[in-house]
Amino acid sequence: MNTLPKQHRETWLPASRRRRRRGLLLVLIIAIALVTTAIFAIVYLQHSLLNRSETPAFGVEQGGEPQDFSGGSELSVFDGDNPMVGNLDPELRQALEAAANDAAGSGVHFEVNSGWRTVEEQERLFAEAVEQYGSEREAARWVAPPTSMHVQGKAVDIGPMTATDWLAQFGSDYGLCQTYSNELWHYEFVAEAIDNGCPVAYADASEDPRLY
Ligand SMILES: [Zn+2]
Repeated sequence: MNTLPKQHRETWLPASRRRRRRGLLLVLIIAIALVTTAIFAIVYLQHSLLNRSETPAFGVEQGGEPQDFSGGSELSVFDGDNPMVGNLDPELRQALEAAANDAAGSGVHFEVNSGWRTVEEQERLFAEAVEQYGSEREAARWVAPPTSMHVQGKAVDIGPMTATDWLAQFGSDYGLCQTYSNELWHYEFVAEAIDNGCPVAYADASEDPRLY
């Protein structure tokens, strides 16, 4: 008669442990799914916020231009083999290299989201912006016409935000200035800035008299 409680215990205990283990596994799976979703959401938000306007992150690549980012690595200011960097104005490139070297000393790394562009790329970006913003007037606030400083090789779009924060603080020492208030990432070389600081930025590209 005293085997009954023992039997009972033997069958009941492992079953509860199994249930508990299944419960833990389920919690673990749900946690992993939540964390994965959160990471994807953050990465997506960062991308869409940083590149919402002037430059789709990989716009040039999507346009079927010869640039190849298939390695997945971001473009550096030292990648002169890539025409986006190689065709930049030499003064701008030198300033960027010097700044990037010094910033790296503080653990800040520059990425080139866009640099030199062809007229065709600029026209395509502008057409896309007209579609996105509904009118040429509004689009011009975010994407310059084919007279863009990018087409001239005199502008570069830098990321991520740690890099643009660094440039906002120290860029003028290298002659690197943000030229449009609404584009925190858009930098040009302004020689006078080294001595006098950066000039006041235009509100947006549509107010830049150099383009019209
Ligand atoms: Zn730009």
